[in-house]
Amino acid sequence: MDSSAGAMRGLSRKKPDRVAGLIEKARQNGADHAVLIPASSVVTASWVVWKCRYGCEDFGRTHTCPPHSPPWTETAALLREYEKALLIQADQSFRIRYLVYFLEREAFLLGFHKAFGMGAGPCRLCESCDIHAPCRRPEESRPSMEACGIDVYATVRSHGLDVAPLKNEKEPQHSYGLVLLT
Ligand code: SF4
Repeated sequence: MDSSAGAMRGLSRKKPDRVAGLIEKARQNGADHAVLIPASSVVTASWVVWKCRYGCEDFGRTHTCPPHSPPWTETAALLREYEKALLIQADQSFRIRYLVYFLEREAFLLGFHKAFGMGAGPCRLCESCDIHAPCRRPEESRPSMEACGIDVYATVRSHGLDVAPLKNEKEPQHSYGLVLLT
């Protein structure tokens, strides 16, 4: 009797409903867009981290930036272990960093035990990041997509979303994050 009721409860928790709930939570918490995508559509490339190495003043300065973040080959292997992910857009990178942490936790609590979030830009949770000491907020801190070698431009455009380099500070910003789900 009990096990049958348990089975019924298990059957009633269908994944599409949980995903719809996550998308709604993303929107309620500041995402402009949240779409379910195949993990296989996330593009990785070696050149991405070279852009960090030659051009970003934060290179090597946070636990979540290259060369401390996972190399792109490891990210490519990680992506092969997933089927679906949530791609999230917001107007600021700090909002994305909050959202991926929040949604990863929500997804985990909903039963997506593999849920893992990746944000945008260098981690700014602390005033300064001491890379010679352990991370002070490891539960919340996540690497950005680009720090892990994800070609954000190619990935985002393949799903019809808008992304372009900012020509000046007045242009609207579109930041992206990813929450790997299943
Ligand atoms: S949470 Fe703090 S210590 Fe950890 S990566 Fe971010 S800035 Fe560095």
